[in-house]
Amino acid sequence: MIPAQFDYLAPTSVHEAIAALAEHGDDAKVLAGGQSLLPILRMRLNAPGIVIDLGKIPELQGVSEEGDHLVIGAMTTYAAVLASEAVATHAAVLSKAIHTVADPQIRHRGTVGGALVHADPAGDVGAPALALEAELVIAGADGATRTVAAEDFFEDLFTTAVGEGELLTHIRIPKHTGWGAHYEKFVRVSHQWSIVGVAATVRSEGGSIAEARVGLTNMGSTPLRARSVEEALVGQPATDEAVRAAVASVADGTNPPSDLNGDSDYRKHLATVLTRRAVLAAAGA
Ligand SMILES: Cc1cc2nc3c(=O)[nH]c(=O)nc-3n(C[C@H](O)[C@H](O)[C@H](O)COP(=O)(O)OP(=O)(O)OC[C@H]3O[C@@H](n4cnc5c(N)ncnc54)[C@H](O)[C@@H]3O)c2cc1C
Repeated sequence: MIPAQFDYLAPTSVHEAIAALAEHGDDAKVLAGGQSLLPILRMRLNAPGIVIDLGKIPELQGVSEEGDHLVIGAMTTYAAVLASEAVATHAAVLSKAIHTVADPQIRHRGTVGGALVHADPAGDVGAPALALEAELVIAGADGATRTVAAEDFFEDLFTTAVGEGELLTHIRIPKHTGWGAHYEKFVRVSHQWSIVGVAATVRSEGGSIAEARVGLTNMGSTPLRARSVEEALVGQPATDEAVRAAVASVADGTNPPSDLNGDSDYRKHLATVLTRRAVLAAAGA
């Protein structure tokens, strides 16, 4: 299907983009890689009068290092993140999760910022953002910026802390240098969205788990962080028996969907299996 007619604007700075959003209000829609927005426009689930393309704004592109943080521009493509040595070294679980997203064509167009703002609970970027305790930088209508912790960013299904007239500009990630990492994604066929996914990153010391972070994909209306499991893992040896016991309650309090890929109880069972596998792999066991 062909989208309804719209005007097109390609600002060259965040300032210009924010001004355009203020001028056009809810008649405007921001375009990043278009991998979620364009299908929506083609199905006419949304028909904005104007599309504001962020693709010509250099300040939203690329990965940089600021002291003990990595800073990823919202318009950085999945492919650019995968090519980044800095992300592989300091935020490995993000690289590993992105490696499982869709196919190379989509990874060359889709952006990390677009995926985070789209906030599909089956998307693979939210769980690593939680596990890495990322912070999301949002530029507002008055030109001011605010920073929101990943845990406060995802508010509901397809809903984030980015409000009307605002843009996500950067993702700030504390460096997790030396942490082991793994993303365990369960799908029926390749290139599918996660039925369930688990992002795990682990710091080991003297053969035991010293710190662990676990994020869950598609176990509720938003990505979730499994804090009680993280606490239970601390001090445990990275053995199958110890990790199995520590992650047994990972699905407690979650509310995963039921659909043609599996019902809610099946997903809860999957989450315990995948979390064990992800933690053991992250710990190098
Ligand atoms: C066939 C197919 C398979 C896929 N499989 C997977 C998969 O396995 N795993 C997975 O995680 N994802 C998958 N995706 C989704 C893909 O990851 C998308 O790229 C991503 O969801 C959106 O990123 P985008 O840059 O294309 O954003 P767009 O589609 O351009 O935008 C998405 C939404 O975010 C808003 N937006 C974008 N950037 C900003 C910003 N900086 N500030 C404010 N608002 C913004 C837009 O207005 C829009 O509402 C798949 C997509 C397709 C088409």
